[in-house]
Amino acid sequence: MSSHRTAARSRCASCGTTSMVGQHHLYADAPALVLSCPTCSEVEPRIASQDGRILLEQRGTALLTVPAPQTVVRETPPRLTAVDADAPPR
Ligand SMILES: [Zn+2]
Repeated sequence: MSSHRTAARSRCASCGTTSMVGQHHLYADAPALVLSCPTCSEVEPRIASQDGRILLEQRGTALLTVPAPQTVVRETPPRLTAVDADAPPR
């Protein structure tokens, strides 16, 4: 993975502060994983699992920005050219 997950940024819907997701306060012992804004402590995303599904509530997040993984640039394969069967070998 070329981008690090802590590079994600979140803008709080309550106070408008944009901060790194890694700066948020994490409450892992709640019924869901809860992140709260490091500036105003409002709840931003809540993540839970239920009946084999992942639930993500983002009511407190105005904008979540996650760097896209870098694409792999591959060399262009050599072009195939037609061979003249009557031509002498090179
Ligand atoms: Zn906030």
